[in-house]
Amino acid sequence: MNRDSATIMFRTFQTKILIGYGGALAVVVLVFAWSILSLLKLGKASDAILRENYKSILAAENMIIAVERQDSAVLLLLLEAENEWRQELLSNENIFLQWLGRAKDNITVDGEGKILDSIETSYTAYLMKLSEIFRDKDISIKKTFYHKEVYPLFQSVRNSCIRLREINQRAMFTASSQAQNLAVSAVWNMVGLGIIAVGFGLGFSLFLSNMLASPVGQMREAAARIAEGNYEIQVPVDRTDELGLLAEQFNNMAKKLKEYNELNIEKILTEKRKIEAVLQSADDGIIVVNPELKITDMNPMSAKIFGVEISLSLGHHFLEIIKDEQLIIFVKTVLESGQPLSFENEKNILSVKRGEDNSYYKYSIFPINIKSGFMLGVVVLLRDITRLRELDRLKSEFVMTASHELRTPLTSIGMSVEMLMERVSEQLNDKDRRLLQAAHEDVQRLKALVNDLLDLSKIEAGRIELAFEDVPVNLICEKAVSAMKFQADQKKIELFSDIQDNLPDVKVDPNKITWVLVNLIGNALRFTNQKGHIQVSARQSGDHIHISVSDDGEGIPYEYQSKIFDKFVQVKSEKNSGGSGLGLAISKEIVRAHGGTIWADSVPGKGSTFTFTAPVRNLSRKDAVKC
Ligand code: ADP
Repeated sequence: MNRDSATIMFRTFQTKILIGYGGALAVVVLVFAWSILSLLKLGKASDAILRENYKSILAAENMIIAVERQDSAVLLLLLEAENEWRQELLSNENIFLQWLGRAKDNITVDGEGKILDSIETSYTAYLMKLSEIFRDKDISIKKTFYHKEVYPLFQSVRNSCIRLREINQRAMFTASSQAQNLAVSAVWNMVGLGIIAVGFGLGFSLFLSNMLASPVGQMREAAARIAEGNYEIQVPVDRTDELGLLAEQFNNMAKKLKEYNELNIEKILTEKRKIEAVLQSADDGIIVVNPELKITDMNPMSAKIFGVEISLSLGHHFLEIIKDEQLIIFVKTVLESGQPLSFENEKNILSVKRGEDNSYYKYSIFPINIKSGFMLGVVVLLRDITRLRELDRLKSEFVMTASHELRTPLTSIGMSVEMLMERVSEQLNDKDRRLLQAAHEDVQRLKALVNDLLDLSKIEAGRIELAFEDVPVNLICEKAVSAMKFQADQKKIELFSDIQDNLPDVKVDPNKITWVLVNLIGNALRFTNQKGHIQVSARQSGDHIHISVSDDGEGIPYEYQSKIFDKFVQVKSEKNSGGSGLGLAISKEIVRAHGGTIWADSVPGKGSTFTFTAPVRNLSRKDAVKC
């Protein structure tokens, strides 16, 4: 349906409403007009009553009064013959004639003219008889004349006036009742028309609401079905007005939604298949856990690791399948924080017993967040490091055996070279003596390297014995400082310590920790120029003592700072010639064995600060390791 036909349709519907309500409005207007007309008619009728009859009544009244006064004046003249009564007679004659003239000008009722004619005739006769009455002097004749001739005419005039008044009064009553009838009929007409208007309006409203309610109800139902995911639904298009158009467009919308939904489902299914393929083929174990700690997905590798069936494990609590308390704590932490965890000191290793042997898995935990911040769960990734650990162990054992085997011949070579230097040095020429000296230095360096390697491999293999004691921190620091004082003085470097007062003792192996401190001071001496400064300091932070060695030497380039604690890592510089690159690696292992950590802060060209932590005395060894 194009836009124009839609507009025409719209007009049709609009016209329907307009006609419907316009009809009701027209009836209302009719009632209104009728009311105004009736009111005007009523007004006119009342006006007519006043205008037409009231004037005649007034004239009749005044004529009665005037003729009565004339009659009284005649009687008084008969008795007193005073001039003032003659005046009265004349003035009332004038008044009578004036009102008679007015009454004649306002003839409105049938028979009124006749009455007025008879009044006029009687009154003229009455006036003539009045002019005759005063001709005789004899009062008795006058009286007789009055009774016989004047009085009957007076009565006739008066009665005619009364009749005039009465017919006008009757006409007035008739007009008034007519007006009342008019008012009553107007009221009934208005009530009738009003009822018709209300009925019409109500009928149209009902018709309109029925006409709208049914298709709108169908569309509401259909919308609810669509919201539930039933995109097949269609509403009937059985009309041609805009409701029909709306239904048609609703069906179009449902069709489009269906297409869009199918497209989305296809996309989602494709993504799901991809993810499933990745999960199936992954060499690492992958487990998905929901916020209730139930397993919602796992791949074949993880089922293999824990020796379970995937279908039987889904929906089970994580702890039922992976019986590791530490891992569940980490999973809970990630679920609560919504952030991935970073693990230190290889705390994220899971050991799984398989027959006689153990398998080791390094795990990572990633949160599954969705946009609204709602947490869907976590993914636990398990990487098999059993072979790596085995290789590492074999390597450490080999290094340990090799260094152990090398130590005895190296010691004897060293002793032989030293003996040669003592006994035959004099007989040698300069070149041979220098060669012997170089051999001596190389043997010493080799011995140091072998010793370091042996120490490190022993620590890594867990074969180092730590003899824990409660030791005052300043004792360790002073011991290390005094051991290195001579070297510092020789290089004209100021070596001093700054220990916080009243520090609690630390629970450490004093020899090993002193070794770490001496190693750090030794490094600082190597990389600090003459007249430099090295400071050994210690302060408390919670359950640990932080022991630091700061120098204002050459510092460590940024790219090396994260690697220098690894084995054999050395910054390429001239001052590095004597080292083995193992000192910091050994220090790290010793500190870790004490439950502490070690790190370096350095600004190239300005100096470095190496800090390690050691547990305070009152903590047990177990607690210290947990820190
Ligand atoms: P090395 O036997 O070479 O001293 P270490 O493990 O003790 O081995 O040190 C590793 C490297 O770290 C050193 O070779 C050096 O480059 C760097 N380093 C250690 N301490 C310092 C320091 N105080 N200042 C500058 N560089 C340092």
